[in-house]
This record gives sequence, structure tokens and C-alpha cells, in this order.
Amino acid sequence: MTPEELEVVAFVHEAHCPGCDVAPGKPHEAGCDVERCSVCGWQKLSCHEHEETHIPESVPWTGEWPGKPECRELGWWCIPNPTGRGYVPCDSDIPGAIEDLNRLAVFRARGVDNHYDTIQNGRTA
Ligand SMILES: [Zn+2]
Ligand SMILES: [Zn+2]
Repeated sequence: MTPEELEVVAFVHEAHCPGCDVAPGKPHEAGCDVERCSVCGWQKLSCHEHEETHIPESVPWTGEWPGKPECRELGWWCIPNPTGRGYVPCDSDIPGAIEDLNRLAVFRARGVDNHYDTIQNGRTA
């Protein structure tokens, strides 16, 4: 799934895990694409570095898409780009604002909050 698709799924589903259908508070089933790596926070299926040290019980399905509470804490919100592809950052009080999971994922992966810099350099003049 692309980050944009992930966000759409996250927006639609709450309660049972949309990947493996476990109830909130339970660890994900093996192979669930929603599960986060307990070491680095990246998607478990995409992280092969921490297969030995990952602890499924420490990253149970919470009833909410992983990362959303962190985004709220950081104040990172976005809305679908009105003039093109993807999403643009916005304030939490904008109608339709959702937690900016892409920004959080990039920040965790790179250690730098430069998600939108990359997009701008790649897509606009
Ligand atoms: Zn799951
Ligand atoms: Zn990892």
C-alpha cells in the first residue's frame, strides 16, 4: 500500500484491526500489515531489521490506527490536497483534517521532519 492508501484505510476503520481483525488491546496476528515494529515504529512487515527483538505484545492493536495519538500530540494534521495529489499540512480545526501519518512515518524513518520539503522539491516549480 502507498502512504496515501494507508491514510484512507486509517480514516475509515476504527475498533477492530482493519488488517487482522483482532479486538482492541490484543496483539496483531502474524503478517498483519497494520502492526508496527516495536523497536522503530515502522510497519512491521516492512521492517526486517528487528525481527528478533520485536515484541508483539508491546504494540497491540489499540482500536486506533498506530501513530494517530502521536500526530495529535505533535499537532500534525493534514487534508487531501485541494489542487493535486496527496495531502497538505493544516491546522487541527480545519474541517476534514486527519492525523498526518505520512509526516510521522517520514520523521520516524529519517529522524528529520522534512516530508513536505521532499514533496515540494519533487513536484512543484
Ligand atoms: Zn492487525
Ligand atoms: Zn524495526
